[in-house]
Amino acid sequence: MSFNYLVFVKQVPDTKNVTGQAMKPDGTVNRAALPAIFNPEDLNALELAIQLKERFGGEVTVATMGPPAAAEVLRQALYRGADKVALITDRAFAGADTLATSYTLSCFAKNTTKFDLILCGRQAIDGDTAQVGPQLAEKLDLPQICYVEEVLALDKKKIRARRAIDGGFETVECPLPLMLSVIDSNEPRPPSVKRMMKYKKAKTRAELAAKRSSYTDAEELARQEQEYRAKGLWIEEFSAADAKADPERIGLKGSPTKVKNIESVVLKASEMKKVEASEAGIRSLVGELIKEHILG
Ligand SMILES: Cc1cc2nc3c(=O)[nH]c(=O)nc-3n(C[C@H](O)[C@H](O)[C@H](O)COP(=O)(O)OP(=O)(O)OC[C@H]3O[C@@H](n4cnc5c(N)ncnc54)[C@H](O)[C@@H]3O)c2cc1C
Repeated sequence: MSFNYLVFVKQVPDTKNVTGQAMKPDGTVNRAALPAIFNPEDLNALELAIQLKERFGGEVTVATMGPPAAAEVLRQALYRGADKVALITDRAFAGADTLATSYTLSCFAKNTTKFDLILCGRQAIDGDTAQVGPQLAEKLDLPQICYVEEVLALDKKKIRARRAIDGGFETVECPLPLMLSVIDSNEPRPPSVKRMMKYKKAKTRAELAAKRSSYTDAEELARQEQEYRAKGLWIEEFSAADAKADPERIGLKGSPTKVKNIESVVLKASEMKKVEASEAGIRSLVGELIKEHILG
């Protein structure tokens, strides 16, 4: 038995360090101003895919839609055990909201690769919408299981999985292919040193071109590309045309949602109030929270 696991991961700004330069005047995120990290719950999705490969066999492909710099999360996925990686990158994707993002990912999945299971993180820590996974499943007309904690059984026809629900869990069975959105329910394995030594050299065409000296001609570049491919160090790039995506439905053009502004909320001392650790103290706190419509 062998399965194709397609994991979608996102490179996100480390939202713990939001600065004043976080937003560009056009309302899109200024990704250059923020340290970029691997979206935490996507590490859980990748870990689950690698565990499924170890239990049931198959191949793990990891893909991300992002600017050229997003190739870094693909190298990190290779360090942890991904077999193949893909960078879905095109200037036309810039400023995409979840509708345009999920459309682009669905075109990539449908038109460029094979999959039995699509795995996403439940949520990205920047947009925080948790919309892309379910939207992607809808666009591919796939059933979906969200908030997945564990896969109990898998065969060529169906999967049985445990998902978190309020106050407990649910065991569900579902035919393949499908989309799983995964929560923080496993211990992502650390990068393996052996794999890091090999895959830190993995490159995209843009990175190879940027590395070349002025004497390297196109022929030499093509020869180097073959060399990287032969060693399994080539990070394939897919443009809007490669994914057969409709230019009207991607990027800012395809996005009805415009992010007006984001700012970090820093509480000032003057805004803080000490609550007495007593019945009366708690009562007056709850009273205020109800008055402020935060509770109730
Ligand atoms: C502060 C802020 C607020 C935003 N609010 C909205 C909003 O209200 N509505 C809206 O439509 N857009 C919004 N956006 C834009 C939104 O962030 C982007 O569209 C983004 O690409 C996807 O949404 P998300 O970050 O919420 O991801 P989620 O839907 O939370 O991501 C879920 C999963 O989908 C997969 N995924 C998401 N993005 C990618 C990617 N680029 N490549 C590969 N896999 C991916 C990952 O597995 C991820 O774990 C917002 C952006 C910011 C920064």
